[in-house]
Amino acid sequence: MHELSITRNVVAIVSEHAQQRKVLRVTLEVGELSAIMPEAIRFCFDICTQGTPLEGARLDIMQTPGSATCRDCGAEFALHDILARCVCGGTHLVRRGGDELNIKEMEVA
Ligand SMILES: [Zn+2]
Repeated sequence: MHELSITRNVVAIVSEHAQQRKVLRVTLEVGELSAIMPEAIRFCFDICTQGTPLEGARLDIMQTPGSATCRDCGAEFALHDILARCVCGGTHLVRRGGDELNIKEMEVA
């Protein structure tokens, strides 16, 4: 479960930015194609935040869609599945986003 180490990193980064202040809310942006499961992040968040400035903070997770450009026909389209094909049947896709994990916002007391 790589979500545990990801969540640990998020908690470490947010704690550092909070500079001893209590964190009320954290918003994460998780790409739809990132293979990160929001529910697993939530589960790990409760564990990883104990004894940190993030304890009890609200966690908001926004899933961002991926998109791709087809090298065969040039079409741009939303990509919800890494194994998807273009409508032209092309499989030479250039992915644009969808695999990110960003700390979008944090709210401190
Ligand atoms: Zn195409």
